[in-house]
Amino acid sequence: MERSEIIIGGDTAGIEWRVPVFRFRGRDSAAPSVYIQAALHANELPGTALLHFLLERLRTAEAEGAIRGDITVVPQANPIGLAQYHFGEMEGRFDLGSRTNFNRDFPLVALAGRDTLLEKLESRSAADRLKRMLLHTALGADLVLDLHCDDESLQYAYIDDAFWPEAADLASTLDMEAVFLSDGESTAFEEAVGHAFKHQGGDKLKTVPGRLAITVELRGRRDVYPDMARRDADGLWAFLAGRGIVTDPAHKAKPYAGPAVPLDNIEMVKAPEPGTVLFHRGIGDEVKAGDLLATLIVRPGEAGGTLAVTAGHDGLIATRCSARHARRGDDLMKIACREATRRDRKPGTLED
Ligand SMILES: [Zn+2]
Repeated sequence: MERSEIIIGGDTAGIEWRVPVFRFRGRDSAAPSVYIQAALHANELPGTALLHFLLERLRTAEAEGAIRGDITVVPQANPIGLAQYHFGEMEGRFDLGSRTNFNRDFPLVALAGRDTLLEKLESRSAADRLKRMLLHTALGADLVLDLHCDDESLQYAYIDDAFWPEAADLASTLDMEAVFLSDGESTAFEEAVGHAFKHQGGDKLKTVPGRLAITVELRGRRDVYPDMARRDADGLWAFLAGRGIVTDPAHKAKPYAGPAVPLDNIEMVKAPEPGTVLFHRGIGDEVKAGDLLATLIVRPGEAGGTLAVTAGHDGLIATRCSARHARRGDDLMKIACREATRRDRKPGTLED
């Protein structure tokens, strides 16, 4: 294993960020290569815990000669967000300096333009530099996994349908309970990787066999436990074994049995008015259209001061917000439905 660092100069004097990168050289040049990063949203740590245990296993595998493909791991991708503590809470999603989401505004380049990502780096902000250097590193691999988490959530993933159903093996080994098929139309890290893979010269490719770009949502922000992280590390190891990146004679493939639904089928349940949230249903529940999901106390203490929030469609509750006060229009839940819930959804991500 080789440990190096991506070094990012700060936007003010005296500051420098260091991002550790771990590389294992494969002994089989025909085996696929993989890049895995976690905590690009700095306050999403299930992936960091997973990769800590996976790296432990990979070091053992290396000593045993069991690494066939090149493996690059960045277990904590965003030291800028990690340091943004304000009034006791980490702001890991948005860069305070530029007010941009750390997982948006990645440059969309063709694979052949990979090195243009590093042009004029010195004139760019620290957050932009970080994004470009992570993307540049990732585009050196065939398979790219970006590990995130939701608020309260089942295990699920966003994947451009250009990589589906080939990626069902990862959904299976990580015991995902749902897969959201995205349209590849945003500037999130995973979609910038997907963009490069689909633009390899000539026309845009509709499918890209042997490549992968995926955002894995490793349950909720608080789902950071030793047993869970070890189990997920075993799941990722099984994926690597199945793809021939590591050798594991004990590996057995199993099919993915969960739902895979397009983003148009995701019902975003919103708070129609501000209020205190009383949830009646939780993640993993199957619901029918009209089922009571939550009661909002909009005028506390007054007769008739509550408002019922009901499901618009049949489906599986995949995520739920952890806050117990909602502003008008705040997202309360995501429900994976069997049918399209909105015909007016703009292409791109479900959330800012
Ligand atoms: Zn995230």
